[in-house]
Amino acid sequence: MKISEILKRETPILSFEVFPPKTQDSYAAVASAVDEICALSPDFMSVTFGAAGTTSDYTLSIAEEIQRKGVTPLAHLTCVNSSEEKIARLLGRMKETGVENVMALRGDIPAGGETQPRAYRYASELVAAIRRQGDFCIGAACYPEGHVESPSRVEDVRRLKEKVDAGVNFLTTQMFFDNNVFYNFLYRIREAGITVPVIAGIMPVTNAKQIVRISALSGTYLPERFKRIVDRYGDRPDAMMRAGVIYAAEQIVDLYANGVGAVHVYSMNKPQVAAELVRAFGTIIGK
Ligand code: FAD
Repeated sequence: MKISEILKRETPILSFEVFPPKTQDSYAAVASAVDEICALSPDFMSVTFGAAGTTSDYTLSIAEEIQRKGVTPLAHLTCVNSSEEKIARLLGRMKETGVENVMALRGDIPAGGETQPRAYRYASELVAAIRRQGDFCIGAACYPEGHVESPSRVEDVRRLKEKVDAGVNFLTTQMFFDNNVFYNFLYRIREAGITVPVIAGIMPVTNAKQIVRISALSGTYLPERFKRIVDRYGDRPDAMMRAGVIYAAEQIVDLYANGVGAVHVYSMNKPQVAAELVRAFGTIIGK
């Protein structure tokens, strides 16, 4: 099913994300985590694309597993390090296997540079290429605090509008830890004429060191209340897991209460975290 259709539902939409294995050795472990998350009946599940275009076939294999479990998959696709032929081959496989939803991304530029020229420079060019190659439902990324490479938030929203106009059906946000950042972003993009549905991306933080690193790289704002939790519980994995889930659950309930229709959880192959979250707010949203 196309995610654009799912997003028309009146009931709150909840989706989870997994990342593909890097090698065949870890395939079974990822497939098992996928099974457990599928059992929670999310409205859809996304599968990331390895940094710099690695793991591309595993992304599709995992998306196909999700489809077999009766859950709608969303396969990510990045254009960094990718030729036109490679993108066409992956889209061809998606058409064959009936994976209808694709998240079109540029990807992060590898530290040592790309190993081959990029056929599509920005995600907007990839979106246009996907549109030409089939009847896909296309998602794209957006950044409530601005993309790190962008000179300003105004410029970032201008580029986002170009990307959406190239044929995007919905947007998913980078994680944020302060809902006001998201509400403010929504206001700015609606003002700029971006009208597609925006899915709020929420990351339940279960690993303190990881979040401090991600935040430093992406410039994500960490509210004081959140930092206190990380300072207090960061070195106790069980306590950090519970506190991270509670913080994320509070954010999600607030989003739904304020009329946000869809939330995407960066569940990072952790079925336990996904299950705890659904337990925390599932009855509120009828899951
Ligand atoms: P773009 O939309 O191309 O934007 C990149 C930068 O270029 C921005 O600063 C933008 O303002 C600027 N820009 C855009 N168009 C132009 C133009 N015409 N001229 C000048 N500047 C321009 N990474 C992965 O490797 N795999 C994944 O699976 C993955 N999934 C993600 C999912 C989500 C929801 C999000 C938010 C991010 C994800 N990422 C993933 C990370 C993403 O690849 C990086 O953030 C990357 O740096 C930007 O990708 P983009 O698609 O947003 O790029």
